[in-house]
Amino acid sequence: MSRLRVAIIGAGGAGLCAARHVLSRPKIFAPPVVFEQTKSVGGTWVYKEQVNSYGNGMPIHSSMYRDLRTNIPKEVMSFPDFPFEKHLPSFVHHTEVRKYLEKYCDHFKMRNHIKFETTVDAVVPVRVENGWNRLAWDVTTSDGIDPSPSVESRFDAVMVCNGHFFDPYIPAIPGLDKFTGAVIHSHNYRSAEPYAGKSVVLLGAGLSGLDIAMELSQVNAKVVLSHGQKPLKGPLPPGVQQSPPVSKVLDDGTLEFQDGSHARPDVFLFCTGYNFTFPFLDKQVGLKVKEHLVSPLYKFLIPPAFPSLFVVGVCRAICPFPHFHIQTQFILSVLDGSFPLPSQEEMEKDIELDEAARRARGIATRHILKLDSEQWAYNDELARLAGFQPLPPYWSNLYESNKVFRSQDMLNYKTYNYKVLSQEEWTVQGPQGLS
Ligand code: FAD
Repeated sequence: MSRLRVAIIGAGGAGLCAARHVLSRPKIFAPPVVFEQTKSVGGTWVYKEQVNSYGNGMPIHSSMYRDLRTNIPKEVMSFPDFPFEKHLPSFVHHTEVRKYLEKYCDHFKMRNHIKFETTVDAVVPVRVENGWNRLAWDVTTSDGIDPSPSVESRFDAVMVCNGHFFDPYIPAIPGLDKFTGAVIHSHNYRSAEPYAGKSVVLLGAGLSGLDIAMELSQVNAKVVLSHGQKPLKGPLPPGVQQSPPVSKVLDDGTLEFQDGSHARPDVFLFCTGYNFTFPFLDKQVGLKVKEHLVSPLYKFLIPPAFPSLFVVGVCRAICPFPHFHIQTQFILSVLDGSFPLPSQEEMEKDIELDEAARRARGIATRHILKLDSEQWAYNDELARLAGFQPLPPYWSNLYESNKVFRSQDMLNYKTYNYKVLSQEEWTVQGPQGLS
């Protein structure tokens, strides 16, 4: 049998991980073709000072800001088979993550398989006689030069690794067009200095929202952190106060909050996350994005009617690199036949039951992909089904402990340093001597 040809869309963390595992099984898979629209590997970790567009009209992909340090310690942020360098602190600057991904790419000899400055424009399923599951994929690409020649190639399988943090989501707020100050999304935030001394209403208290609130406080901005969660308990940075979400903008440009209070800030900053977007995917695939749920995907990966298409990394509130490592190995077990997929009907039923069970537990549709602490059971399930090594026991425990420290000590948790002692044990040194 001829080797399977796999296309990988994107050379960020997910695409590189996919390529690394495909390359590790040369008897079954031909070297993959990785399509990357930019000149670099690393995806969102390739910081760009400019905002909006690269200059050739292509929108900036990265959502990094200048001073960002990771919010997950390197001990569990890394791919399990490729640790960060030992000398680095647990929470590294984004430039170190980019270097790490470059090294990962070179260590596993992926670079020659990446087609840079090549954008995937269309991915179309084709019914064939002799393909994997009688299915193949025509992938059309262009190089961004105008007029751009399109190139079409055929593959047995496609792994979609295009990232999910580049298309800003701004919630519909009645009257938003009446706001007369600056409106900005965190995708276009780079550094705090332009906000020095300004009043800012920052909507959203996720990881980026909190991080940016801290940066703004350091330049004496007056920040109202507007969010719909329970009030945050840990000490907030100086100059930052909490309020409920903004409900509307009045005719004179004043923001009204859900508790009836008002503000007229200089800046309205949205840290409200991103839209999923798969503009290249043919309609026949039937993948729907509704209320931040990408569906139908068996095990959050596979459209049941097209089981040689894999959408990697759509889950949220996860530990991304290890998650990609697990998902990719599962995918390869599907493709090499070591994990035979259930029938289309069974996969559809599984998705239906899984989504219904989550809703019955009070999880709103928009949060179904937010795995959070359930990610460990999910990872273990994929490893068990496909018969590969699960993550070592310390992984979940250390990651979850970091979450607790982060909520208790938002101002300092990135100064903690972790040390893994064995497969089960680890210690942490923080400013309060936690261990
Ligand atoms: P990306 O890194 O976005 O890569 C996708 C790639 O696909 C890009 O290179 C893009 O150019 C390419 N691409 C897209 N469309 C096409 C196309 N049509 N054709 C060709 N190429 C295409 N994770 C952590 O583990 N720790 C952290 O501390 C952390 N902090 C974060 C902070 C911010 C501000 C953000 C935005 C994310 C953070 N993350 C963090 C999550 C981060 O997104 C993941 O770690 C991971 O890098 C995502 O990898 P990816 O490959 O899925 O997507």
